[in-house]
Amino acid sequence: MPSPDLSPEPTPTLPSVVAPKGGAIVALDRSFVDEITAIRHDLHAHPELGLAEYRTSDKVAAFLESYGIEVHRGLAGTGVVGVLRCGQSDHMIGLRADMDALPLTEMNGFPHRSQIPGCMHACGHDGHTAMLLGAAKKLAETRHFNGTVVFIFQPAEETVGGARIMIEEGFLEQFQIESVYGIHNWPGLPLGQIAVHSGPVMACADAIDITVRGHGAHAAMPHQGNDVILAASHLVTALQAVSARATDPLEALVVSITRFHAGEAYNILPEEARLGGTVRAFSVALQDQAEALLTRICAGIGTAFGVQITLEYRRGYPPTLNDPAAAESCAKIAETVFGKSQVRRDLQPSMGSEDFAYFLRERPGCYVWLGNGPGEGGCTLHNPHYDFNDSAIPYGIRYWVALAETLLPAS
Ligand SMILES: [Zn+2]
Ligand SMILES: [Zn+2]
Repeated sequence: MPSPDLSPEPTPTLPSVVAPKGGAIVALDRSFVDEITAIRHDLHAHPELGLAEYRTSDKVAAFLESYGIEVHRGLAGTGVVGVLRCGQSDHMIGLRADMDALPLTEMNGFPHRSQIPGCMHACGHDGHTAMLLGAAKKLAETRHFNGTVVFIFQPAEETVGGARIMIEEGFLEQFQIESVYGIHNWPGLPLGQIAVHSGPVMACADAIDITVRGHGAHAAMPHQGNDVILAASHLVTALQAVSARATDPLEALVVSITRFHAGEAYNILPEEARLGGTVRAFSVALQDQAEALLTRICAGIGTAFGVQITLEYRRGYPPTLNDPAAAESCAKIAETVFGKSQVRRDLQPSMGSEDFAYFLRERPGCYVWLGNGPGEGGCTLHNPHYDFNDSAIPYGIRYWVALAETLLPAS
């Protein structure tokens, strides 16, 4: 996992925002949208897990080449990067899509359902990949910008953080993007709407492992040992004081214990209990505070119950923090595509997490939520009935194209 140090980097100058040329929204005819929809269906039918997106990676590279876009492969294994230059400007932006699916058996019955048992695009990354391909194709055709657009197709958003691996393997040295942008489809947000957050949009996802060790004993004679189950139970309760009593209630923090394993028999007090869980927050300062408080409470409960408690606190995906200036630009651009009333600036951030955070830790940028509509029965992400909404495809492509044409304006 990367260093937890999120001290701000010097912020590169973002290209100034002007209205898209002529205020025009890129034209997408029916056959163009159908072509991208067919790509989306093909990707949906052939999902692949993180770092194993071999077919997807081959397909993406082949499409980019067919559009006349320079293709780079190999970062994070299956990562694909497309580079499209136009004009003389040195400005360079990154547009990112994730390509991986989830270890889940699809329960849908439509023709493009997953052909792979135990693997499914239940987070809509098939839609993200297809929309970015659509934008790449359209921008390669129209070339109505001045600068370089870097199309980032990254693996393994769901698991190990493909974004982090690409960065560690030198993505930012190889492609000197000044700013970076991401889209995630968002069920529950109406189709035709987009949500733009200034600042936090997704939380960090830290993992905790706690081991409680004591002296085993006969269950009928507990005074002869140190009951680790009792100590661990108190610990679960006490840890809730971290968010309820020890940190600012106006700052969102979740501490969830999700695993509790101890004992095997009715008449034996075990020697060891193991707990696991997660911590979610929107700031590194709060992550630091939570880690310190968890450490203190573990030590205190250990002393109180005469048991040894070890805490392993591992930093996972960092908080996803949009750059306020970039968010402002994206919201203005989105108004031209979606209409002013359809750009939501008032949604609460999510306590979920997202590895786009690694890009945003290195470069200013903005990660937006694209309305996917209510879905069948209010179906949510990571559900075996989920499907990306094809009707969102033109919105996503238009947003990407408007972003490139506005941030890299043709003279
Ligand atoms: Zn997901
Ligand atoms: Zn996702």
